[in-house]
Amino acid sequence: MVEPRTAILVVNDDDASRYMVGRILEMAGHRVVEAATGGDALRLAEQLRPDLIVLDVKLPDINGYEVAARLRSHTETASIAVMHTSATFVTADKRVLGLDSGADAYLTEPFEPAELIATVKSLLRLRHAERELRQRANQLAEADRRKDEFLAMLAHELRNPLAAIMTAIGILERKQTEDAKETRMRSIINRQTHHLARLVDDLLDVSRITRGKVELRRDRVDLCAVLQQVLTLMQPVAEGRKLHLESTLPGRPLWLNADATRLEQVFTNLLDNATKYTDAGGSITVHVSQEGVDGGARAVVRITDTGIGIPAHKLPSIFELFAQVDESLERTRGGLGIGLTLVRNLVEMHGGVVFATSAGAGKGSEFVVKLPMTMSLPALARSTVSTDDRPRQRRILLVEDNSDARQALKDLLELWGHQVEVAQDGMGGVALALEGRPDLALVDIGLPGLDGYRVAQELRARVGENIRLVAITGYGGPEDRHRAIQAGFDHHLVKPVKPDELDRLLSDL
Ligand code: ADP
Repeated sequence: MVEPRTAILVVNDDDASRYMVGRILEMAGHRVVEAATGGDALRLAEQLRPDLIVLDVKLPDINGYEVAARLRSHTETASIAVMHTSATFVTADKRVLGLDSGADAYLTEPFEPAELIATVKSLLRLRHAERELRQRANQLAEADRRKDEFLAMLAHELRNPLAAIMTAIGILERKQTEDAKETRMRSIINRQTHHLARLVDDLLDVSRITRGKVELRRDRVDLCAVLQQVLTLMQPVAEGRKLHLESTLPGRPLWLNADATRLEQVFTNLLDNATKYTDAGGSITVHVSQEGVDGGARAVVRITDTGIGIPAHKLPSIFELFAQVDESLERTRGGLGIGLTLVRNLVEMHGGVVFATSAGAGKGSEFVVKLPMTMSLPALARSTVSTDDRPRQRRILLVEDNSDARQALKDLLELWGHQVEVAQDGMGGVALALEGRPDLALVDIGLPGLDGYRVAQELRARVGENIRLVAITGYGGPEDRHRAIQAGFDHHLVKPVKPDELDRLLSDL
């Protein structure tokens, strides 16, 4: 239901039209405020935060498309519903432009009062539902954040008593004893305390990783050497559980730009699971290979077991935090359901993917990890530079039509020591790139006139590969990324661009 006193801002420089729309809406129970120019509309929108703006396209100062785009680009006004009106017939591409610039609906005059009221009602209903969803999402995000914080605190608090127990065990172990029972008890305490410590470590790790508090210490790493190390550690575990563990590694190094300790953690977790979820007499194989070449080369690790398998309907969720297939109370194989979440996060932080397959319960499982390999030696040499080395100064072209966003990003890049040129539309951007030959262009996708995709195509055609192209867009879906890469971009950053991410990208390029 529409609330009776929703506020609507009616913007039209034609007094008669504005008056008419205003009275119709007032009679429908809304509170109406009027403006005759784009400038006034923006000011009132910010001051009054109306629920809806009925915005004529043709205004004396700033046109309606631009007003809508500016409203959308400011967080305070971004969620206000916008309905464009136009006095003359508008072509389909103008309507598309209107909707693209952020309007939610379009009405062409003359319209019936009933049509206006119905459109307004449906827009308000949509906004209302959207607002509720957003609120709910915020509440959930807040609850999730509190849960992560609680886990971090819990793990942290558990560490202190555990540390004291471990020290005490260490002292006890030095004391010789002849008593077989006491020796057995000590070794139980020792084993179980280490097990507890590992669980607490995982808990702390997962809460830090999911809160983005873990940074990789990357170096040039041979994946085969990492796996060899993990296999040496896991061999006795497998033997202890009467499992056959075998591996096929290529007879040459597979170089990655990776954090060796974190990779060990990934493969130890996967192998530990394989030993845990396979009954005595079963076997586990680790197979390592390379797929693709040059820039697209990836190292592929397949860990296959003949164990209890995973039912198809559980496969999509096993990487979720606390997910466990066996939900029975006895849960003979234990665990907290954290390991695979850690694995996935760590693999993705390395730019890789991990997935599981299984023919079903009782039919074994396969976990596949794919990690990007480093390309050439010079690139490798650069990747081992210590993190406090600043990236070298670059000539950067920034194409962004939103003036605040443009200025802020320019300031930031200059603060990092780069030389920055700016353009506010696509045509201007291409012209500057041809003239100044920058090392890199950061290009917004939603630009007036020539959009970001066309800017990239144009630059690839005219400057070739001598420029790095980075798209900056509000759309982060795989298809948007794909479209950007197709257009010639090397990278795709989603708004709001995080300074860390941008800094990393600039130093990696
Ligand atoms: P945990 O093993 O501590 O329960 P994980 O996050 O490592 O947590 O694994 C989540 C769930 O995925 C496990 O509880 C188990 O049900 C399933 N799983 C993981 N690895 C395997 C495997 N190799 N075979 C069968 N099921 C597995």
